[in-house]
Amino acid sequence: MQRSERNSRTAVTPAGLRREAVRIAVLYALLGGAWIVYSDRVLASLVADPLLLTRLQTAKGWLYVGVTALLLAWLINRNLLAAASAAAELEGHVAERTAQLEGLNRALRASEDRFRALYEEIPAMYFTVDSSGTVISANLFGAEQLGYSVQELTGRPVLNVFCEEDRQVVQGQLDACLHAPTGEAVSWEFRKRRKDGSILWVREFARATEDAAGNKVVLIVCLDITDEKLADEEIVRLNAELRQHSAELEEANRKLTELDRLKSMFIASMSHELRTPLNSIIGFSSILLDEWIGPLTDEQKENLATVLRAGKHLLALINDIIDISKVEAGQSDRRISEFDLGDLLEEATRELADEAAARGIELRVEPVRLPMHTERRRLYQCVLNLVSNGVKYTERGSVVVTAQHLPFPSGAGRVTIAVTDTGIGIREEDRPRLFEPFSRLDSPLKSRVPGTGLGLYLTRKLAREVLGGEVTLASRPGEGSSFFLTIPVRSEEGGIASGGTP
Ligand code: ADP
Repeated sequence: MQRSERNSRTAVTPAGLRREAVRIAVLYALLGGAWIVYSDRVLASLVADPLLLTRLQTAKGWLYVGVTALLLAWLINRNLLAAASAAAELEGHVAERTAQLEGLNRALRASEDRFRALYEEIPAMYFTVDSSGTVISANLFGAEQLGYSVQELTGRPVLNVFCEEDRQVVQGQLDACLHAPTGEAVSWEFRKRRKDGSILWVREFARATEDAAGNKVVLIVCLDITDEKLADEEIVRLNAELRQHSAELEEANRKLTELDRLKSMFIASMSHELRTPLNSIIGFSSILLDEWIGPLTDEQKENLATVLRAGKHLLALINDIIDISKVEAGQSDRRISEFDLGDLLEEATRELADEAAARGIELRVEPVRLPMHTERRRLYQCVLNLVSNGVKYTERGSVVVTAQHLPFPSGAGRVTIAVTDTGIGIREEDRPRLFEPFSRLDSPLKSRVPGTGLGLYLTRKLAREVLGGEVTLASRPGEGSSFFLTIPVRSEEGGIASGGTP
């Protein structure tokens, strides 16, 4: 079957057909010649009657014509059929290849459409430049970015769209790109000039390749980095500004430190000068008031009491200011000692016991025993301030001092000393002002109760900067307040953990 197919295919080729024709002609000549020569001899040897012989020879002649005609018809038919089937097969092949080609054409067109859409619409500038630097093609986006039409750019030197100052370098880069091995991409950053003269910063990626005719061309893709460059310039400018401000700040800081030092020096030297006459005023007015020198009239007593009150107030104010300035100047001499917290609390409340009793307020300390290792004097000062405030701002009821020890697994931990009163309380909105210097909250007691507005400011400063702790509070107006002083039990164990309020 395969062979006959191959044969028929061979026969229908022009050479095959020619060979087949020669074969048939030779066969026909041989058979015809042999028939003519031998058939007459055979008949002559078989038939003696000349009339019969003539008739038989005529019949033989007709037989020959008929057989050769049939033979020719069969051969021609066979070859024509083979040629027809081969032609049909060829047509089939042609149709199949045509369909394949059409498919390929469609795919090619679609791919080209996609590429063109990308080329025209992607927000990047595309240029193709020949070896002499002339623009062969540009995409619409690229042309629009520069304010030109595509036609205005093509056929012109690409250098025209670059800033004059950059052109020489651009030419050098183009040459380098053309001589770089094919496929090697080069990247640059340049300034381009739009048609309207404005500047456009671009980052270019260029690659040398060959066009359809084999000529070297450079494909260039540009991205607009103007904003990036402007941002960079802005950052550089801001940095310079920042450096200048830092220098100014440093200078201001230096001046402030110097001023602070002078202020501390002033306060330190003035403290003595102020305290000495004040102590005299307080001392002598007390002596006069106690009538050691002689009896006084009621009016004299009243006036002397005012002098004594004012003197004490002034002394308290000076003491607070000196303390604050010492802490701020870091001059607070650290005197760490071992002591019992219970003793310290007892001592502080004892100092205020008379005042509390005079006002009809119960003042007590919940018993506690806790060895401490810190600045006793400063802790005492803080506790005294808080208890003193409790007594001052409570009209009736009590002031209770408690201590709660919170040991750390790896150390002495911290302690929270709470001073709780049943006094006037503090409104939520007043809290931010509470620890401000010279800040006294408005209350009916304000005019009756002496105060400088520095106590809480100093207490928190000492708690934070000397004792390594914090002061917090909880309060309800009209019901009372609790001030919490949380500090490390041993000063070397550092600051407190967050959330020091019980
Ligand atoms: P002062 O010398 O006026 O007592 P402080 O700094 O100790 O100054 O306190 C600031 C202000 O906080 C006080 O004037 C008072 O209004 C308020 N204050 C302080 N402690 C209490 C308290 N326990 N109860 C209510 N108000 C208080």
